[in-house]
Amino acid sequence: MSDSEQVDSGIAQQFAVQAVHHTLGVRADVDSCAALTRRINGLLDQAFQHFQQDGAALACRAGCNFCCHLRVMVYPHEAIALFRYLGSRMPREQATVVRERVTRNAALVSEMAREGRTAAGLACAFLVDGKCSAYEVRPGACSGYHSLSRERCEAEYKAAGSAPEGVPVLKSLRYVAAALDDGMEQGLAALGLSKARIELHTAVAALIKSPALIQRWRSGRELLKSGGR
Ligand code: SF4
Repeated sequence: MSDSEQVDSGIAQQFAVQAVHHTLGVRADVDSCAALTRRINGLLDQAFQHFQQDGAALACRAGCNFCCHLRVMVYPHEAIALFRYLGSRMPREQATVVRERVTRNAALVSEMAREGRTAAGLACAFLVDGKCSAYEVRPGACSGYHSLSRERCEAEYKAAGSAPEGVPVLKSLRYVAAALDDGMEQGLAALGLSKARIELHTAVAALIKSPALIQRWRSGRELLKSGGR
C-alpha cells in the first residue's frame, strides 16, 4: 500500500468509527441502522467519483447488475436497514413482491448450504427491473463492490461466482472499502454490538418473520441464533 493509500484508508477507518458513534452510539434503533448505512454509502459514492475523476477506468454503470447475482454478506445493522426500507420507503406493492422473493431466496440459500453450495447465481431479491430497489441503503458489500472489466463480471456471472480469473479491481478503492469495514467493526465492538455477518436473504427473511430479532441484536447478541452464515 502506498503512503497516500495508507492515508486514505486511515481516514476511511476513522470515518466509519465516527459514523457508528454518531448513529448507533446515540440510539441503536432501526432508523440509526438506516442512517449509518446511508453514511457509509455516501462515502463510498464519493470515493467512486474521486477515483473516476482521477482517471480510473471503472466499468460499473447503472443497469449493469452481474454483481447482484453474487452471494452478499451483510452486517446486522445493514439487514435491519433493508428491513426498515421495505416497510417505510419502498412502494407497498413492490415491497410485498420483494418480501416474497426474500423469503423464497432464503429458503433456496438454506437448501444450497445443505448441499454445500453457495448462493452465487441467484438474483438478489432487491433487484427490480435491473436496478437495486433499495439503493440508498444497499449494504457496504454492494456499494464497495466494483470492477475494471464488464467482460470479466459477465464471465464471473456465467460461472456462478467462480470464474478462474476473478474480477479486476482498483486497489485504492478496495483499501477504502476494507478500511470502512474495519472501522465499522471497531465501532460496533465498542458499543458491544455483534458484527457477525449473515447472508443477505437469510438475515432479512428472519427479520420479516420475527422483527423481535432486532431487540436481540440490540442487547448484544448475534442477530440470528444460528449465525446464518
Ligand atoms: S442489495 Fe441491491 S446492490 Fe446489493 S445485491 Fe441486492 S440488488 Fe444488488
